[in-house]
Amino acid sequence: MAEDADVIVVGAGLAGLVAAAEIADAGKRVVVVDQESANNLGGQAFWAFGGLFFVDSPEQRRLGIHDSYDLALEDWLGTAGFDREEDHWPRQWAHAYVAFAKEEKRAWLHAQGMRWFPVVGWAERGGYGAVGHGNSVPRFHVTWGTGPGVVAPFVRRTRAAETAGRLRFAFRHRVDELIVENGTVAGVRGALLQADGVARGKPSSRIVTGDFELRAGATIVASGGIGGNHDLVRANWPARMGTPPAFMIQGVPDHVDGRMLAITEGAGGRLINRDRMWHYTEGIRNSNPIWNRHGIRILPGPSSLWLDATGKRLPPPLYPGFDTLGTLEHIMHSGYDYTWFVTDQAIVKREFALSGSEQNPDLTNKDWRLVLGRAIGKRATPPVEAFKEKGADFVVRETLEELVEGMNALTDVPRLDFETVRREVTARDRELDNPYGKDLQIAAIRQARNYVGDRLIRAAPLHRLLDPKFGPLIGVKLNIITRKTLGGFETDLSSRVFGANGSIIPGLFAAGEAAGFGGGGVHGYRSLEGTFLGGCIFSGRAAGRSAASAS
Ligand SMILES: Cc1cc2nc3c(=O)[nH]c(=O)nc-3n(C[C@H](O)[C@H](O)[C@H](O)COP(=O)(O)OP(=O)(O)OC[C@H]3O[C@@H](n4cnc5c(N)ncnc54)[C@H](O)[C@@H]3O)c2cc1C
Repeated sequence: MAEDADVIVVGAGLAGLVAAAEIADAGKRVVVVDQESANNLGGQAFWAFGGLFFVDSPEQRRLGIHDSYDLALEDWLGTAGFDREEDHWPRQWAHAYVAFAKEEKRAWLHAQGMRWFPVVGWAERGGYGAVGHGNSVPRFHVTWGTGPGVVAPFVRRTRAAETAGRLRFAFRHRVDELIVENGTVAGVRGALLQADGVARGKPSSRIVTGDFELRAGATIVASGGIGGNHDLVRANWPARMGTPPAFMIQGVPDHVDGRMLAITEGAGGRLINRDRMWHYTEGIRNSNPIWNRHGIRILPGPSSLWLDATGKRLPPPLYPGFDTLGTLEHIMHSGYDYTWFVTDQAIVKREFALSGSEQNPDLTNKDWRLVLGRAIGKRATPPVEAFKEKGADFVVRETLEELVEGMNALTDVPRLDFETVRREVTARDRELDNPYGKDLQIAAIRQARNYVGDRLIRAAPLHRLLDPKFGPLIGVKLNIITRKTLGGFETDLSSRVFGANGSIIPGLFAAGEAAGFGGGGVHGYRSLEGTFLGGCIFSGRAAGRSAASAS
């Protein structure tokens, strides 16, 4: 049968756009199919904070950070904890991706116009020893322009290819089936969804107005993960992470529905590591929601005191920003699905960043004047101040007693015992009487401030929480917030998808979150952060290049 294109790409998110740009630039014809409208071009990446994992970058070197491929690989492998037979390809991808992050990634993106904020962030600090989980050094490079700045070069390239007649976008086309003929994927079938001009990120109509079929020599599945589908998140929740949360908020738009994973499995694709996921523990309900159950993640600096639902402090090294999944596992074994930060204005001002392009108008709009506001004054960024004043999960009070009372008013059952909280806070404050002590979080804050980037904008000067000079006191109820899917379709380094019998399925490729960002799980169990957008770029590029040469 006649082909509609050389390659079909399912998904106009970052991975799909990168793949499509490469295919068109290789002179091939490509159709990009997406269930959402053109308003949604770029998918999740548009909403992203834009943090990218680079190794030994000029930004790091300017700040005196010594990084290398060997150090980054050791950190990656210590974090991933690969321990399964099906980790064969994820492991290959991990080696290749760290090499990409060291050698080619920044230069390739720089040549396409991208730039980065000069202060490199230090995410996932670990705390278990030098070969365990975490970044030994800061590696989180925030893109100037945040998520939209990451998407921009690939929107530009695909739109140019569209004008040149090599690329066609098929929006509001929902793929329901992969066409398989003689063991080869030959295209896609699905439903035409009712036109809907709903704004970016808002849930769109699912009314079907017709059907469609498209054929091509190669099909790339770049349909994202499962974070918008709480049933699927709960179904895949592993026993090692305790019971799935009864209450979760959502860190991704509703289109991250995971449907395409079962559809691709139906065509024979081998989905591996489906129990590996990356959800955050510092979610706050958005008072101005865009998608359903919309939550925002606080990217915290190291100083807030982290208490469980009953007021007990989380154990070392579960401090803010140290070990996302370790904290999640601890919480989900505590019998409750939320925790608390007890903090104050000085810490919130310096240390609270909110993940998401719309929560960082200064960086997203590339406005240096506003960015400088982060470093001066007593107030946090306007979006953080707005959450503090109106957010359903924030309590602001002058005294600890009033604070605990206010925090207890936020839950059905008041579980915080004032005496327990008072003891934790005063004991912590007393540790500051000496320039040394036994509290490892205090030690971690002291040593974080040896890094100039933290001292400038991420770690508040050490002070007593009960010192009114730094107040008022602030309590934040932290919910579990869904985000990333770490498992996915098993692929080789050319992004070709394996079938259940271990052989490649001709005509089928996968990229981005659908491919576990490469190989079916390049992160293993955990991430070093800033690795997802780059994973879409790396695996999308590989898929685009190999699909173009195969078709
Ligand atoms: C708020 C936020 C902040 C983030 N910050 C960072 C960060 O700082 N650093 C980082 O590395 N990562 C970050 N991420 C993660 C990163 O943005 C995502 O993991 C990545 O963008 C996923 O891209 P993707 O192309 O794989 O999938 P998606 O962006 O989900 O795109 C998939 C597309 O496929 C379409 N689709 C799905 N199923 C079908 C179907 N059946 N038929 C047709 N179309 C279909 C969807 O409509 C969608 O447009 C963040 C994410 C969010 C939401």
